[in-house]
Amino acid sequence: MNTPTYLSGKKVADHIYRDLKNKIRELDKNNIIPGLAVVLVGENPASRSYVNSKTKIFRRLNLFSKTFKLSQKVSEKKILNLINDLNKDPSFHGILVQLPLPDHIDKEKIIFSINPDKDVDGFHPVNAGLLSIGKPKFIPCTPKGIMKILEYYKINLSGKNVVVLGRSNIVGRPISILISSKTKYANATTTICHSGTKNIKKFTKEADVIIVALGIPKFLKADMVKDRSVIIDVGINRLKDQSNKGYSIVGDADILDLKKKNIQITPVPGGVGPMTISMLVENTIESAEKYCARSSAG
Ligand code: NAD
Repeated sequence: MNTPTYLSGKKVADHIYRDLKNKIRELDKNNIIPGLAVVLVGENPASRSYVNSKTKIFRRLNLFSKTFKLSQKVSEKKILNLINDLNKDPSFHGILVQLPLPDHIDKEKIIFSINPDKDVDGFHPVNAGLLSIGKPKFIPCTPKGIMKILEYYKINLSGKNVVVLGRSNIVGRPISILISSKTKYANATTTICHSGTKNIKKFTKEADVIIVALGIPKFLKADMVKDRSVIIDVGINRLKDQSNKGYSIVGDADILDLKKKNIQITPVPGGVGPMTISMLVENTIESAEKYCARSSAG
């Protein structure tokens, strides 16, 4: 009987936190505590839960984080004014605006207003542009975390056929850029499938590695993948059930169906999710280090 091998992201994230503690100690010698400002608009339960997970880690590592909670009806002007203040505030080395934003807010206008030097999510066009020309400053947390998982488990993509499902600016597009770059553990032949792709199965069946970021629960089935393939499941979907919480979290891969296959796969939860958070911490620390270097250069 074939069984999947699980690629735990939690294990990789714990390893990363051990390394980051040394960097935090070094910054502390210069009286710098890395600080993150989180802007949270509205009552979306998933957003609240993500923000809680993120700020909990900051507290655990004795880093500084502050969440600015704004009502669902807040004006765009008020958010822009807040970001303008945060851009100038030296206690924050990173600014994160939790997405999605309400429909009356222009998401791009908000993201574009963040100082690229504090854009620890890496969504600002300056940072997206730098990534696309191979000179990244802040790499978006989820794609960066996926690369760390591949590196940790020594899954070298060079020369492999990799299929990315999804083309969002947050996951699909930046991970496609990273894995197709001529860099360590990357250099993959990369195919991007999306809502306009006909017969996705034709592509996934040929793939050595599949990175699935669609937001469609249990999309990827056993008959869509070949044996010995690697699956990075980015999806986080809430499915209603009879449990006390009233829902369970499932990925974009149908793990029960995929159990028939001899594959390696990141679990949901416990796979890409914890890596995204650890990369947010890493990006904030790197931003604080750059701030420290700028300050000492006068
Ligand atoms: P998104 O909605 O912005 O993008 C989804 C992409 O899927 C789009 O590019 C679209 O073209 C494609 N798509 C939609 N339906 C399709 C179909 N039927 N066939 C083929 N392609 C289709 O989503 P996103 O922000 O990239 O997030 C994707 C998933 O990853 C979500 O479940 C989200 O919650 C999750 N996510 C997880 C993490 C993490 O840390 N694990 C981080 C970010 C996002």
